[in-house]
Amino acid sequence: MSEEVVAAKPSKVEFIKEASRQLRGTLAEEFRDPTSPLCDESEILIKNHGTYQQDDRDLRREKNADGTAKGKQYSFMVRSRIPGGKLTADQLLAELDLCDRFGNGTLRITTRQGLQLHGILKRELKQTIKTINDIQLTTLAACGDVNRNVMCCPAPFKNNPVRTEMQSLAQRLAEHFRPKTTAYFDLWLKDDTGNETNVAETSFAPVEEPIYGTHYLPRKFKIALALPEDNCVDVYTQDLGFLAAVENNRIVGYNALVGGGMGVTPSAKKTFPQLAVPMAFVTPNQAVAVAEAVVKVQRDNGNRSDRKLARLKYLIANWGLPKFKAEVEKYFGGTLPEPRPIEVTGVDDHMGWHEQGDGKWFLGINIENGRIKDEGDLRIKSGLRAILTKYKMPCRLTALQGLILCDINPNARIDIGRLLREFGMKQAHELTLLRRYAIACPAWPTCGLAVTESERALPGILDQMEQELAKLGLDREVISVHMTGCPNGCARPYTPDIGLVGKAAGEKYSVFLGGNVLGTRLAFLFKDMVPKDEITPSLVPVFSQFKSERQAGETFGDFCHRVGKDALDAHAL
Ligand code: SF4
Repeated sequence: MSEEVVAAKPSKVEFIKEASRQLRGTLAEEFRDPTSPLCDESEILIKNHGTYQQDDRDLRREKNADGTAKGKQYSFMVRSRIPGGKLTADQLLAELDLCDRFGNGTLRITTRQGLQLHGILKRELKQTIKTINDIQLTTLAACGDVNRNVMCCPAPFKNNPVRTEMQSLAQRLAEHFRPKTTAYFDLWLKDDTGNETNVAETSFAPVEEPIYGTHYLPRKFKIALALPEDNCVDVYTQDLGFLAAVENNRIVGYNALVGGGMGVTPSAKKTFPQLAVPMAFVTPNQAVAVAEAVVKVQRDNGNRSDRKLARLKYLIANWGLPKFKAEVEKYFGGTLPEPRPIEVTGVDDHMGWHEQGDGKWFLGINIENGRIKDEGDLRIKSGLRAILTKYKMPCRLTALQGLILCDINPNARIDIGRLLREFGMKQAHELTLLRRYAIACPAWPTCGLAVTESERALPGILDQMEQELAKLGLDREVISVHMTGCPNGCARPYTPDIGLVGKAAGEKYSVFLGGNVLGTRLAFLFKDMVPKDEITPSLVPVFSQFKSERQAGETFGDFCHRVGKDALDAHAL
């Protein structure tokens, strides 16, 4: 442990994990009562099982018959961990059925290529998790102090082995870091109670957790794999990124990038967003072992007393990269060469029709903010059900909250286009690039940490931005907008061209500029405490300055970065 950490008392969460009997705690007892909310300890522990206890803050305000406020009505968000976003049509159909059967009628594609159900009642949580496992998906380690969903470029090109190799490594990493505790099986998958609403009573026989130990990790841990020409997973925002080195259509190795992370706590001045930095070059055969060494160094040295400072980025900031790398080499058992000069040069949202390279096609469908639902004439849920039931194609989820339908026969393309139109779903060519590259976290009403709207506010903001950009003839620009309802940064808001971060009640936001769509640069704070309705007006002078002063080929983010905040401010006066 580092000097500062040895002296400091571990946080409450560390004691809860330690006493939990490998993530069991009192969950079994508490689920005997199908309605009462979980205690604080269980609320923390259950995250490791892939679910958060939440309350819908819109519902809090509703009134009972006697005029009193209804108050908190608890339900669960249930997140499926889907490495590389790969799933079958039947799995996606089953998740859609679950959202109707037990959830709030919507299913959400996350910014980490997972799926989230919202509004699951306590009495139906076990059945929900069990059904997810019955379809060969899992919620284990989708949240909590463990390695979370491993992200990977999902494009299903078959004409070269590079993406297939990366996707296979993503699967191996996901399996390698899966917690070994049997608590998940005992609690959610056993049917020995005869009562589907109760989780099972179980006797505890500890198993070895060779990577996580008794305390699991100090904090969440995130891994992603990307290609230099396609950083669609935002590899620099991860605790550990693998950026591929490709020669003659083969992956010869990866630059291991370490210490990225978006979360910031405004009240904790020592917190900051950080891009991952290249640590070493690793061969494909070394990647899993190096990942394990990185995770173990963080496990044994990360800050366990202050969770705000517990992510890997703070350990590296304390130690410096050379010391961190030397420690990783000790755990790995050998020296690692310096990283190669590999740069990210492109990004692709994988939307629209593409030949896969094997005579078939894939179709990327933009799902606004990842929310699969039926609303008015836009019936995404019904449309996807119709297409998936008819064609049963494999699917992939993108990090920009989109959906890729794979392995489509050329002769089905017209019919699928017809089905999309029938259900009001737009294809990529009918959307602006602004909308295609925009993502948002859920925030209100379900996220307990949200201070502002995000998902529900972004579409209206994009409407305004589209209008202003069109007036300036800038509507064909790729401008990425990431929005969150608090500074925790779940939608990676500190790297895109425009980052909108919920700052204070009353719908006030921090506006960040100067990142880029490639995800290779941190943005700077342009304006703070901007009311929601002022966000687009505050950007109009910047759009206009970009139009008149941009250099040849310069993107919006590059322009803002080049001229800087002062010049943008001066122009706005
Ligand atoms: Fe919740 Fe904040 Fe994450 Fe959004 S960024 S989902 S508001 S914690």
